[in-house]
Amino acid sequence: MKSKISTAVSQIPLSGIREMWKRAAEYDNVISLGIGEPDFGTPIEICDQALNDARGGATHYTQSQGDPELIEALQLYLRGRLGEAFSARQIVVTTGGIGALTSFFRAVLNPGEEVLLPEPYFPPYRHLIEWVGGKAINVKSCFENGFVPTPEALETAITPSSKVLLLNSPNNPTGAVIPSESIDAIAQIALEKDLLVLSDEVYERLLFDGLTHDSIWTRPGMRERTVVVHSFSKSFAMTGWRIGYAFGPEWIIESMVKVVSSWTSCAPSVSQRAALAALQLESAVIGAMVEEFRARRDMAYEDLKVLPGVRVHKPAGTFYIFPDISQITDDCVQFALHLLEGEQVVVVPGETFGPSGRGCIRLALTVNQELLKEALERIRRFIGTHY
Ligand code: PMP
Repeated sequence: MKSKISTAVSQIPLSGIREMWKRAAEYDNVISLGIGEPDFGTPIEICDQALNDARGGATHYTQSQGDPELIEALQLYLRGRLGEAFSARQIVVTTGGIGALTSFFRAVLNPGEEVLLPEPYFPPYRHLIEWVGGKAINVKSCFENGFVPTPEALETAITPSSKVLLLNSPNNPTGAVIPSESIDAIAQIALEKDLLVLSDEVYERLLFDGLTHDSIWTRPGMRERTVVVHSFSKSFAMTGWRIGYAFGPEWIIESMVKVVSSWTSCAPSVSQRAALAALQLESAVIGAMVEEFRARRDMAYEDLKVLPGVRVHKPAGTFYIFPDISQITDDCVQFALHLLEGEQVVVVPGETFGPSGRGCIRLALTVNQELLKEALERIRRFIGTHY
């Protein structure tokens, strides 16, 4: 009977991240740096407000585009972030950032059309592209370049079938931020090659050391061809509420709304009320969380960089760190499995995020500093004993 499952779905390997999670359940005393899920709960004020609104009747479908009050609040928010006015028709609220990615690909891709996918990348991208018949074309990057896609690597991957360029900055799994000069060069290529750009900026608020977020959206000629994806999941510790959104030119957003309408009808209405409350609490919630992630980033970076055979960049944003351990092993999958068996620490092998991630492991800094210190100590001991 299994053969009745569609080829597109049966070809998806078991997620490397969830596989590690499953195995971890067999051990006690596990410290998981596996899943990209903030350990903070959603601030209670947001929960209270959503609950009140549900009591008050926010329990029905909303418009497919989103709850009008939330759209209005997003218009204000985006104006504050980007310094420009957005029409309501430039915004669509979705079921998580994933919902925005899904509806974008469904809206623009015909079978055989290609999406340029810089590595390392968030694994679901590839599946979402392939499910609608598109082709994901890897764009290589490397440790030496700080895992930033170079114009040369992009040019090499472009073919006459290239339609979309996907960018993700700040990046999961590396924590890298694409520098402004690279964004300039990439925007130029997108214009010359007439590419649409999908810019996944779900970590836009999780930046450190005073860095401000820079989006390709702001470059000349990009507003006509770029869709930007944001999410409440990471910035507001709201993963389970499943609210994201996209903004872009009206002609694309309008088609994405059509997809949302048939796919999920609308994003969950109570969650949209929670998102509205989150925007009202914005700076109070985000500031404290970013500060905690920065402290963890510093701890992980300082401890990892002194380990023999380990090379690591200091992440500019997100809550991931992506050390290269290729000098101590050429098999990161075995490394991760043995680390779990020997020291009960979960990390994710880098090749889960595309071939350019080979030789690296991803640590999600989503445990408190005490546990993180303990996990880093276990990793140090493990490497010292076995390699
Ligand atoms: N993009 C990236 C790069 C991510 O890491 C994630 C979540 N891990 C998402 C999109 C989707 O986030 P959500 O659907 O929870 O908003």
